[in-house]
Amino acid sequence: MNPSRHPSQRSADPLQRPHRRRRRSPLMLLALFFAGAVSVWGITDIFSRAVVEAVEPQVTQTAALGDMWSQASFPVEDFQAYTSPFGYRSDPYSGSQRFHYGLDLAAPSGSYIRNWWEGRVVEVSDDSACGTSVVLQSGNWLHIYCHMHGHVARDSSGRYFIDSAGGLRLQEGQTVPTGARIGRVGMTGRTTGPHLHWGLKYDDSWVDPALVLRAMYTSQQAVRQGN
Ligand SMILES: [Zn+2]
Repeated sequence: MNPSRHPSQRSADPLQRPHRRRRRSPLMLLALFFAGAVSVWGITDIFSRAVVEAVEPQVTQTAALGDMWSQASFPVEDFQAYTSPFGYRSDPYSGSQRFHYGLDLAAPSGSYIRNWWEGRVVEVSDDSACGTSVVLQSGNWLHIYCHMHGHVARDSSGRYFIDSAGGLRLQEGQTVPTGARIGRVGMTGRTTGPHLHWGLKYDDSWVDPALVLRAMYTSQQAVRQGN
């Protein structure tokens, strides 16, 4: 990952945006949600435990690189709630236990989604359970955003995602700065309500986004306190 300077230094840290109208930040709520999810669902399955154990040292190790996590952007504006954690859950359609490879962040339909980290658009799609989606690559990380408004089209230079009402267009291969608006929360694909399904992979292994958000929270607190 490229710990480059934040591209929108003139404006406030995008992480501040969801804080304005709420006393508790999304990242703080994440900690509460994660604790609750662990107690309700239990990370008892061998596979999910293995995933968590595999990625936690990576997140911790990366966090040790300094304040780089403080530069990452919280991925959704007008955040309302964490509605489904990473790990096994009762499938909302079938009721059976299935692994959920991401974190669900509920927000009103049309809320803007922000790019977590500067990176390149490696895939746009609108024909899977993920719905209208974009995948960006930042170093060894892949970040995936699902269920957005809009659709995918093609022109002479390739495939692109377009959300005309949201004023958004992303071409495969283009670079997007941290915190830039890249989509809007919708209900395309397999979803029962408007939310962002946010997936993260490091070196092709799924990572619990809650671990990353917690690392971001810790790093931001340290920066605020001048450490
Ligand atoms: Zn999801």
